[in-house]
Amino acid sequence: MENRQQIAAGNWKMNKTYDEGISFVNELLEKTNEENVLIVLGVPFVHLKGIADSVANTANIKLAAQNSHEKESGAYTGEISADMLLSVGAEYVILGHSERREHYKESNEVLCKKVEHSISKGLIPIFCCGESLRIRKAKIHVDFVSNQLNEGLFHLSKEAFANVVIAYEPIWAIGTGETATPEQAQDMHKAIRNLIEKKYGNDTAQNTSILYGGSVKPDNAKDIFSQPDVDGGLIGGASLNVDDFVQIINSF
Ligand code: PEP
Repeated sequence: MENRQQIAAGNWKMNKTYDEGISFVNELLEKTNEENVLIVLGVPFVHLKGIADSVANTANIKLAAQNSHEKESGAYTGEISADMLLSVGAEYVILGHSERREHYKESNEVLCKKVEHSISKGLIPIFCCGESLRIRKAKIHVDFVSNQLNEGLFHLSKEAFANVVIAYEPIWAIGTGETATPEQAQDMHKAIRNLIEKKYGNDTAQNTSILYGGSVKPDNAKDIFSQPDVDGGLIGGASLNVDDFVQIINSF
């Protein structure tokens, strides 16, 4: 039996001052009363505590950090730990975003450790995967994503994997205005679900939320979210504008 959570996750990246973040959330609380969709806000670290206080009485709004270190604590200047994130209200963490993979050279190997550590602490990873345009054109995108999952995620036990959310984000569609067609998204989500089934069985595959990310906007969200294996979106640019984000939340 399917038991998948529909999720609208925002990724603010390095945008919004603290006051802008708080205003955004207050406006969001006024404008959305959707209760069947889980809203996850991926906000900058320094916004977490303030926003957690603002949404404390709203059961379906949760917070995500945009990164977390793989170690418990120690001499890692500028880094942040899972315990620290939990202590300021984060329940989710975006791991393996293509911008982290590209600009900070995060490999599948380090992501594997980050995933492991986050889950051991009770932080839910939103694990990002996705191919470049070169890989897509070479028609090896399924193998490429399969490798990302094998190396970054599939070391988890079945019990631990039950806590994971996956975001499929083709790099060629992130921040470019170019979106995967609903069919391209569905094909890849189905392929990912098949890989999960092979590794963990049908019940786990049917219960895993797989989000699409890559230029989701109010005018294309409905078509993408209506695909049978798409359980929501990880939204960058359009999550910075309250009205756009609310329209996307209302697209399920
Ligand atoms: C993202 O950053 O995860 C993303 C999908 O960005 P955008 O929606 O702007 O393409």
